[in-house]
Amino acid sequence: MPAPGTDGTAMDRQACTRLDAQDPLAGVRACFSVPAGSIYLDGNSLGALQPAVTRRVRAALDEWGDGLIRSWNDARWVDLPQRVATRLAPLLGARPDEVAVTDSTSVNLFKVLLAARRLRPDRRVILTDASDFPTDRYVAGGVADLAGCEVRTVARDAVVDAIDETVAVVALTHVDYRTGAVHDAEAVGAAARAAGALTCWDLSHSTGALVVDLASWGADVAVGCTYKYLSGGPGAPAYLYVARRHHEGVESPIRGWFGHAAPFDFDDRYVPGCGADRFLAGTPAVLSLAALDAALGVWDGIARSEVEAKARALTETFVELVGTRCEGLGLELASPRDPACRGAQVSLRHPQAHAIMQALIGRGVIGDFRPPDLLRFGFAPLYVRHVDVWDAVDALADLLVTGDWDRPEHHERRTVT
Ligand SMILES: *Cc1c(COP(=O)(O)O)cnc(C)c1O
Repeated sequence: MPAPGTDGTAMDRQACTRLDAQDPLAGVRACFSVPAGSIYLDGNSLGALQPAVTRRVRAALDEWGDGLIRSWNDARWVDLPQRVATRLAPLLGARPDEVAVTDSTSVNLFKVLLAARRLRPDRRVILTDASDFPTDRYVAGGVADLAGCEVRTVARDAVVDAIDETVAVVALTHVDYRTGAVHDAEAVGAAARAAGALTCWDLSHSTGALVVDLASWGADVAVGCTYKYLSGGPGAPAYLYVARRHHEGVESPIRGWFGHAAPFDFDDRYVPGCGADRFLAGTPAVLSLAALDAALGVWDGIARSEVEAKARALTETFVELVGTRCEGLGLELASPRDPACRGAQVSLRHPQAHAIMQALIGRGVIGDFRPPDLLRFGFAPLYVRHVDVWDAVDALADLLVTGDWDRPEHHERRTVT
């Protein structure tokens, strides 16, 4: 896809329509039900629904209602986690036995981070960066307390240089949830390998937006959520990854029966299951897994590189249009200027970000606010169009020029967005 505006002319709505016409992923939008009148730029928080998911969840309810307990076998609920892991693995650059789909990202992070730390028992440090997502930092602190080690937190740009022989695990969020800045995973992986440290990636804002390739990164363990770019639905089960080279020695700190090699033998002795499956703990969340399984169907035949290229094109269009249409209106780009250094999101700084976002949402442009001063916009590559980007910036520019955002109701604080 050509970079917008490279011919020196200012972009207009028609130019956006032309970019959409050339978009190889344009047809995929029809698989999603984006409500009419909404421009949805929050697919990085909660991905949009697909009608295929609605149908599948209805079918799963019938499997429950009609089949009752027989559906564990007849509807193959029992191996649903493995079937979903097999579908997800190619999006991670992983093999199916390296992936388990279960629990929440926070819980999975606890399990794999503690497990990874135990693979390096003679080292005292979990290294992370100051911009890591709060749950990741909380969990790392808890793991450190349990495992008798410490969390060392450094600035984002200082991570690679801070990796030394004291580090057991480098635990990072690949794409910064606030700014969209991306870590150089290969550089971190190489530095970790050289120092004998392990890497633990949180891919929540990466998978489904960028090329994730855990094999080529040399990643050791990883986690991520499926309700953002993967559109698995609110609270959808998360995933975890454990590289095959660790399957011999790695142990899950939660020895649940679903992580047992043979759960239905009801054995007195705990025997861990194969590979990443040993990190399953309890009964799978069948209804949520069914939704996720159906949601992942849309990725069949879509190349990760195509998705990343679309994300870059959309964020480029947004940054350029904000630059031209909102110049001098008090916005500041809080994301990296270079599209290769950011995920599928762009954040803008403004002291009145909260009220402006509420006003935008009132006009049908749904993004979100991150304290203290960020307007955050996500560009889910499968269903956001360039023309949506145009319309969103048009609304934003109009609000800022007219001052129409500054109304009492826009200043009220809500719990989410
Ligand atoms: C969204 C997100 C999570 C979510 O964690 P849950 O346990 O699924 O609520 C975790 N980490 C990062 C970096 C996220 O962006």
